[in-house]
Amino acid sequence: MSRSAHPAGPRHGDVLPEGHYAAPPADLNGLDPHVWARTVARGADGVVTVGGLPVTRLAEEFGTPAYFLDEEDFRARCRAWTDAFEGADVFYAGKAFLSRAVVRWLREEGLNLDVCSGGELATALAAGMPAERIAMHGNNKSPGEIERAVEAGVGRIVLDSYQEIVRVAHAAERLGRRQRVQIRVTVGVEAHTHEFIATAHEDQKFGLALADGQAAEAVRRVLRLDALELVGIHSHIGSQIFDMAGFEVSARRVVGLLTEIRDEHGVELPEIDLGGGLGIAYTPEDDPREPYEIAKALRDIVARECTAAGLTMPRLSVEPGRAIAGPTAFTLYEVGTVKELAGLRTYVSVDGGMSDNIRTALYDAEYSVALASRASTAEPMLARVVGKHCESGDIVVRDAYLPADLAAGDLIAVPATGAYCRSMASNYNHVLRPPVVAVADGAAREIVRRETEADLLRLDVG
Ligand SMILES: *Cc1c(COP(=O)(O)O)cnc(C)c1O
Repeated sequence: MSRSAHPAGPRHGDVLPEGHYAAPPADLNGLDPHVWARTVARGADGVVTVGGLPVTRLAEEFGTPAYFLDEEDFRARCRAWTDAFEGADVFYAGKAFLSRAVVRWLREEGLNLDVCSGGELATALAAGMPAERIAMHGNNKSPGEIERAVEAGVGRIVLDSYQEIVRVAHAAERLGRRQRVQIRVTVGVEAHTHEFIATAHEDQKFGLALADGQAAEAVRRVLRLDALELVGIHSHIGSQIFDMAGFEVSARRVVGLLTEIRDEHGVELPEIDLGGGLGIAYTPEDDPREPYEIAKALRDIVARECTAAGLTMPRLSVEPGRAIAGPTAFTLYEVGTVKELAGLRTYVSVDGGMSDNIRTALYDAEYSVALASRASTAEPMLARVVGKHCESGDIVVRDAYLPADLAAGDLIAVPATGAYCRSMASNYNHVLRPPVVAVADGAAREIVRRETEADLLRLDVG
């Protein structure tokens, strides 16, 4: 269901008709394995554990709110993607969540890395990711970012505009390099969850359109420049996608361009990147595809189109972000107040909110939530989990069932917050951004520490 969003986020008072809400789950203490990270379980004492550590102890040690990231799950997902895409390249999209520890895991598990800013590039290099395994994205890379990427020797820069072709070529010439590049094309496919729209034109800021010939013109311009080596075509069609049909159209159109390039220039480009956007389960109702199913579907589509066009099968690459990081973490909050509005709903206020998870306010994203510091046999109550910010749109979980005996001091956990939560976190209201705590083999450590008031004041130079 989609709601039209208020510019400042959904407002209060959007009471939905009776019967709108799904029935409460059979077991409020249950932890659906689709939604929770691999090592999350509820102990015999009712306390939720991750990597064998109870959240009550983790909260004492690291405070709340905090993101707890299951390292074993993260690594297992990396391996599932590289196994499924053997003979192809998996680029983790760093914007989902990036830290030096994450870069190390990616490096060890054989993944490549997408970055889209100087900051992400600096993090990747600082953690020792070999430059040739880094791809640089972005629709408006600054000259400085381009210079640093070329100088570092990144494996590819994904070109997004005519201006950028010239900028990257100049940087490469100045540095005496030949830079490998792909061209990002917009294929006219906009995919999200169970729908996709396929049109000729796409109204968005990224890439060069196939439909109006800009993509073909970009190819001409790049092929004329000795400082650039055109290795492939890139397409990214959306986010939180469950249905492979959008990729089918996208792959067909990208292969169409490869065919045109062969016919016009006599070259067969060796690579196709089909982007990321694969969906995950935020609630038990979501049923995402496994990496091996995605790999098979994409390979079959590209192989079929290439055979039909008489092209050699190019090397494929994909760029999952959410599908790797998303399910691996949950956010742990402490309940501060429980406010029952007679006949409406119960508002549960936690010690974080839109500063640590903007997705609900920004995209009307759905999440689930569970009481984590104990089990409960109380009746389910329909609750809205809200944050502590001065904004009525500050909602973490719009509608969720929690036990009716929920009280201040309880810990609640929101799963599937590993992607686009810490990476989109803000200091709104001068709230301090939570730490990311990695848990593995019964040990927990901060990989991004909690922000302090001293951090805030350090930036504020008076
Ligand atoms: C955002 C993005 C991704 C990752 O998207 P997910 O939905 O996290 O998988 C991959 N490639 C590009 C170019 C992107 O912009």
